[in-house]
Amino acid sequence: MDILQEIEMRKEEIFNLYHTLHAMPEVGFQEIQTSQFLAEKLEGAGIVTETKINGTTGVIGVLRGQKSGPVVCLRADMDALAFKIDGKDVNIHACGHDANSTMVLMAALVWAKRRIKRGTLKILFQPAEEALGGAEAMLKSGILADVEEMFGIHLRPIQEGKLGQATPALCHGSSYIMWAEIKGLPAHGARPHLGINAIDAAAAVVNAVNAIRLNPTVPFSVKTTKLLANNGANNIIPDRAEMVFDLRAQTNEAMEELQKRVQRAVENGAAALGASSRISVLGGVPGASYDQGLIDLTSKAIQKVLGETMDPVITPGGEDFHYYSTKGQIKTAYIGLGADLAPGLHHPEMKFNLEALIHGAKILAAIVEERLN
Ligand SMILES: [Zn+2]
Ligand SMILES: [Zn+2]
Repeated sequence: MDILQEIEMRKEEIFNLYHTLHAMPEVGFQEIQTSQFLAEKLEGAGIVTETKINGTTGVIGVLRGQKSGPVVCLRADMDALAFKIDGKDVNIHACGHDANSTMVLMAALVWAKRRIKRGTLKILFQPAEEALGGAEAMLKSGILADVEEMFGIHLRPIQEGKLGQATPALCHGSSYIMWAEIKGLPAHGARPHLGINAIDAAAAVVNAVNAIRLNPTVPFSVKTTKLLANNGANNIIPDRAEMVFDLRAQTNEAMEELQKRVQRAVENGAAALGASSRISVLGGVPGASYDQGLIDLTSKAIQKVLGETMDPVITPGGEDFHYYSTKGQIKTAYIGLGADLAPGLHHPEMKFNLEALIHGAKILAAIVEERLN
């Protein structure tokens, strides 16, 4: 029996794993039951497992082959989302990380049973993708220092792919938040010439930011999302403004350029009115940066399972997975899996066709077969 047939035979088990994980939704860095359940399953299959990675809920399992070969990692995120429904706080797996964990777990279980021939397979269950911070915590622990190749997987909303479809390159954009402070000079409303109005300066900054132009072949956007100024009396020329900008770009190169331009707009916009400024990056996620070799390999695995593969899918959402390639220097590919998922990710009533779990587990198992068998 080949590995794909074996997964087909274990269909009910896959559905049960999913239902169990679905019934224990926990938010980022609090995936206590989830990580315990996943660790028990790995250990039960004879996989050497380490928990509490870097003091978090992260879990990693390791399978080693007899012969030398690459160190390959399958990564899933574990966290659910917090909602307030009818006045009650509830956690829901509305992004399908329970599905991602199920697929990666199943691929690990089938390979634990038949053993990989060469190299090393690491199975990573990462906490806190939604709140971000999970991928960075895993990298900082050092447990991924030897990993050369990493594969991620995520269900897609129906607009990006139907059941039976998958792409080997789900291209998330990069998104960052920048913060700026504008300092003017206070004065009486009757004597504006003696002050520097921070709101006037901020308005010049807003205009300068809105006039930023980048190469139009790469999607990007930037906008002011916060402007706070003067919480004092109504007849004071305000001397301070605080601004926040939301930056999006499809490539990391474009994001780098965009950040420089926003900085220039803030500094020069404020300076045009005689105000001073400072600006910093509050946080964000890098965009997808995939390895073509791994995309080709993943594409082959998708073809084997589903008959054909989709082109790369560009999605405006972000993913902390891309820390592994941009900060960890690991080669990556990321599967976007069609699942007839509706109404959408992050919707509290999100539903998908469970058959997708079988497709995903098979694709991941086929990748391992190609690299480590
Ligand atoms: Zn999400
Ligand atoms: Zn997600």
